[in-house]
Amino acid sequence: MAAKCPKCGKTIPDDSVYCAYCGYGVAPSSRSVQVSVGGALMITAAGASLVLFILSFYALWNIYHWYPPYVAQIWFFYDQMLTAFSFIGFLSGLFTAALSLIRRSYKLTIASAVVCALSGCGVWIISMIIPNSSVTHSLLYYFLPLFVTPIAGTILILFKKAEFNTQPKNVGKH
Ligand SMILES: [Zn+2]
Repeated sequence: MAAKCPKCGKTIPDDSVYCAYCGYGVAPSSRSVQVSVGGALMITAAGASLVLFILSFYALWNIYHWYPPYVAQIWFFYDQMLTAFSFIGFLSGLFTAALSLIRRSYKLTIASAVVCALSGCGVWIISMIIPNSSVTHSLLYYFLPLFVTPIAGTILILFKKAEFNTQPKNVGKH
């Protein structure tokens, strides 16, 4: 089966994303919903990480000012880790989302998605070992939004490598 390029009229394979002759984007709809949903999940993970980063950063300030030295030492340790992990999760999640939504750099997209999921996993582990932790709290506020969400996003993006870097360099000319 073959199709005609609506821009230059040359015959091209009907599964083409871009015309090989003039670079015209003949099938922008061939971008799957899957990668877009993956990107949206990464935005969700980044947003949740940002919320946690703001909260844990604020908590650091409170611990420093209000807690007795011994208690502060323990809380400081955990809260510094939470602050660091959530910041990494926010940056990597946002980076993954941007790359996946514009379909650029498949390897970088997957690498930053894995970093986002790992930082979420770190947050989840800390939420379980922190003093007075609750399992339900850990699952709802840390495990689901910060670990399961980026894992799901990564899996959705993982099997759609062909959608990345398909645009030829001359595409701007049409
Ligand atoms: Zn063409």
